[in-house]
Amino acid sequence: MYSIYPKKISQLSYHLIKFFEEAGEGTSDRTLFYGVSTHAWSRLWQICVPPKVKVLIWRVLLNILPTRERLRSKGIQGDIGGCVLCGAREETLHHVLLECPFTALIWQNSPLQTEWRDRDTRDLNGWLEQNLMGGERHKTELLFMLMWNLWNERNTVVWTAKRRSPCEVVDGAVRLLHEFKEHQPTKLVPLSRAQAKWQKPPLGAIKINVDGALHVQTGSGGGGIIARDSAGCFVAARACRFTHVSSPEHAEVLALRAAILFSQDLGPGPKIIEGDAQGVIRTVQTTLEDRSLLSFLFSDCKFLISQLENTSIQFVFREANRVAHRLARLAITLPGTLSWLQDPPDAVCDVLVEDSL
Ligand SMILES: [Zn+2]
Repeated sequence: MYSIYPKKISQLSYHLIKFFEEAGEGTSDRTLFYGVSTHAWSRLWQICVPPKVKVLIWRVLLNILPTRERLRSKGIQGDIGGCVLCGAREETLHHVLLECPFTALIWQNSPLQTEWRDRDTRDLNGWLEQNLMGGERHKTELLFMLMWNLWNERNTVVWTAKRRSPCEVVDGAVRLLHEFKEHQPTKLVPLSRAQAKWQKPPLGAIKINVDGALHVQTGSGGGGIIARDSAGCFVAARACRFTHVSSPEHAEVLALRAAILFSQDLGPGPKIIEGDAQGVIRTVQTTLEDRSLLSFLFSDCKFLISQLENTSIQFVFREANRVAHRLARLAITLPGTLSWLQDPPDAVCDVLVEDSL
């Protein structure tokens, strides 16, 4: 579905470009259309956001969204009002998406923490082109998602008079983008274990890496858990010691259960739990009943994960899970559970730095 729709729209925008160029509209520079290069127009359809978001940005670039100013310019008579978000007298597209005080709060409170005035750019289309051509891909995706949710908010206020706070609009956009990306086929699967490297989570999400370890002679197990944000920065870590552990798989499922509880402790917001115990992760992901000796632990993991919104579990090669692995080895030597909230444990600092490069 997603492969056909953007292509159709892309063809439409191409024909529109040709039509306006031949009609002499847009700009005299044949490489630009509405101040945006043809290269940037085609980039728009490659951005990984829902098709409805791409269509909105396409309409923004063409300045064809039905703002009140545009309705007035089309001959709609009478008092049709101004900006519903702040009460300003004129509601232009430039105002809604850039100048409105409500919008400014959205840009500031988003993980982008930006203001469009920070940019060395001339106008709305210039800003969008800058993001399409030179911006980091994950930031451009969130920017577009925020714009879509902002326009959606504006329409909700127009039609129902219900309002959300700027933070709610931001949270909604981050959540929708996370859900959309979660259901996309993974393209960046490493070709081999040797190529595997820890990857940052999407903007606004937290990635929790987990690993289990076993000391066979003593039956002691360890669980290593580390949370990092989309910039690769340390958020929190935990090392749990387990007793009476019977097998490596037992240690892995205990560690995974501890990671799910840890995710709960971190509060709301999108999270990805990542571990290298493929069999354990597969068993937790499947709906089939497990009949092994560890079935009660697997059932508990499934139940706990079902209670969490926006938390997913995925497999990663051991080579991309080194911090959690080292914490799990450390955990075996501890008298109990240890947590770190501000600074990471010294024992993993070197691997943390390597991962973030
Ligand atoms: Zn306004």
